[in-house]
Amino acid sequence: MNIAEYLANIGEKKYRITQIEKALYKEFVHNFDEITTLPKDLREKLKQEFPFSSLKIKLEKASKNKQTEKVIFETKDDYQVESVLMRHLTGRITLCVSCQVGCPNKCLFCATGKLGLTRDLKTEEIIDQYLYFARKLKKEGKRINNIVFMGMGEPFLNYENVLHAVEILNNPHKIGLGFRHITISTCGIIPGIRKFMAEGIQVNLAISLHAPNDKLRTELMPINKAYPLIELMETLDKYIKKTSRRIFYEYIMLKGKNDSAKEAQELGKLLQGKLAHVNLIPYNPIDTDDPLQQSEEAEIRKFQKVLQKYGVPSTVRASLGDDIDAACGQLIAKK
Ligand code: SAH
Repeated sequence: MNIAEYLANIGEKKYRITQIEKALYKEFVHNFDEITTLPKDLREKLKQEFPFSSLKIKLEKASKNKQTEKVIFETKDDYQVESVLMRHLTGRITLCVSCQVGCPNKCLFCATGKLGLTRDLKTEEIIDQYLYFARKLKKEGKRINNIVFMGMGEPFLNYENVLHAVEILNNPHKIGLGFRHITISTCGIIPGIRKFMAEGIQVNLAISLHAPNDKLRTELMPINKAYPLIELMETLDKYIKKTSRRIFYEYIMLKGKNDSAKEAQELGKLLQGKLAHVNLIPYNPIDTDDPLQQSEEAEIRKFQKVLQKYGVPSTVRASLGDDIDAACGQLIAKK
């Protein structure tokens, strides 16, 4: 039973929910006692019936330069998930959240994939990641500017809960973060992309591409067998037609694997003339004996030049937090 159902059961008025939502999502209170708009006995009842957060803090780490903070949370059933807060030099603050315990997709380069999937996160477990950092930042007079679903898990395999979380994040009466400040990243789950484009919301879509042809993509991302590149690109063309929104493509740079001039040209041809932006991500090693390696900086620049020739804009993503295993793909939390 959730709080709304509980309040209805005990005959409380509907506006109590509005008061609670305001306290949780706008004032970022730390416990039920701080919701002073509620009568004291109701606060006591809530304290007895509900834990204030669905997540406990297991571990908190900050990178040496303090730009990145990683938190390992523990769910009520003792599983761990991670979130990463990134303070960009521009002053903007981005939060990267998890949406599943583990992930079923087994991408070769990703630590989370090694775990397999344990379970989906519930909506409240996604929102509680946000609220934890929001409360913390409030003390500094700061707030989260952007939220990205790029932590553990595949958002489009936990579609309902992720979209419900997006609704709470966006709703002006709840958290009130603009859709354009929210990004969902997918490994290319076509049915999810189709559903998502029918929602008619302006949330950013990022596609983990990582290879410009089927052979290489299947080698790196087994999900490409179920949703091959041509079908994926056809679906994305429809997405652009429907939404007129630019798609972000993530492309991890793996030395000697996908970073040569050949792949750059293939990628250039694949995205030429489309509403696209490529994020080139230097690979973050996930193991000490990792056979995959990060591309040389010079190779990354060359790759970018080729994309430029095809008129495909790209940026090289700065890696934050690799000293605390908080960088992309390094999120792994064992039970
Ligand atoms: N399942 C979703 C979201 C999680 S991955 C998806 O696949 O998009 C978020 C981003 O981290 C993706 O672009 C992913 O490709 C990238 N990533 C994963 N492992 C990485 C690694 N070892 N180094 C750098 N980036 C990595």
